Amino acid sequence: MREVITQKIARQERVSDAEATYLYQEASLEDLRTWATAVKARFHRLDQATYLIMRIINYTNVCVAKCDYCSFYRLPKSPEGYVLPQEQIYAKIDEILALGGDFVGFNGGFNPKLKLDWYENTFSQIRKRYGDSIEFYALTIAEMMYVAKLCRLSYAEVCKALKDAGVRWITGGGAEILTNEFRQRHSPQKYTADDYMHAQKVVLESGLKSTATMVIGFDETIEERVEHLRRVRELQDETGGGLFSLLSWTYKPYHNDLGGQEVAAAEYWRHLATSRIYLDNVRHMRTSVLTQNENALTGLHFGANDFDIPLEDEVTQMAGAVINQDIQAILGQARAEGFEPVFRPMALTATTGVNA
Ligand code: SF4
Repeated sequence: MREVITQKIARQERVSDAEATYLYQEASLEDLRTWATAVKARFHRLDQATYLIMRIINYTNVCVAKCDYCSFYRLPKSPEGYVLPQEQIYAKIDEILALGGDFVGFNGGFNPKLKLDWYENTFSQIRKRYGDSIEFYALTIAEMMYVAKLCRLSYAEVCKALKDAGVRWITGGGAEILTNEFRQRHSPQKYTADDYMHAQKVVLESGLKSTATMVIGFDETIEERVEHLRRVRELQDETGGGLFSLLSWTYKPYHNDLGGQEVAAAEYWRHLATSRIYLDNVRHMRTSVLTQNENALTGLHFGANDFDIPLEDEVTQMAGAVINQDIQAILGQARAEGFEPVFRPMALTATTGVNA
């Protein structure tokens, strides 16, 4: 198997699902690093890594999906439930801009009180106020699916309405592990994996941009991880490269029903490398400072080419993530690993380059 994979990578051929299983289960970290770097070199300079300065704006924690791995949500009647007022949303955006960032991601719960018009109004007001000086991930695919269901609209209708409101991205967040069995075990009220893939295809067909995400470290099997990667690779083939990147996080096991253990750094690096090698049609592999802190920067040796510097994400912080807000320290860690960090602009007004 080792020789076959070495030759396939040299010839720029695809690895199979069985070979991906070998990468997860048997390959040495040294081989994974070598192979992932060879695939990364097809797309990127090896002495640099791009980064974003960003925050997640958790606009509501009210949710009816009740995923057992979630530490963030509150049910509709909970006194701890909230919806952020617009002024607080603006204050969070202003803070990012003041720090030199140009990007926020919106992520909340399945809140039955927030219909499509709330999102249209929120996002169109942000565009009106900030123009193209800020970019934002409007919702995750999962939230968009819920809004469609709540308002009895098709995915295409919701996408069109959001696009008309100034939205450009609906990110692939909320994916965790994309198999129907995993969804049934942990979040039967969220979506099925088949429906998720369909919704993401509609997002791309609507002219909106999207990304892939994946979270490891629940109770998923290696076969389930490979199935998730296969679904992403197939969608990427079908859409001619519509997905900008894959961002891989690790599960945080605190203060929720599922519990469990943190993913060790070496297991994360193994996953990053396997993803880089298997997803030969996804240009950008993003490593997660939010969930792996400095270990995420070592992940740049295992196929990743991009990292986030996050200021806030209540969802993962409630589950145990610890955020380091010292931007220079994180950049220094990337340099210590041998990568010159290069700011990746998201806003259209940025002059240092265009990311997508
Ligand atoms: S993970 Fe998302 S959809 Fe699931 S309970 Fe938490 S907020 Fe709701």
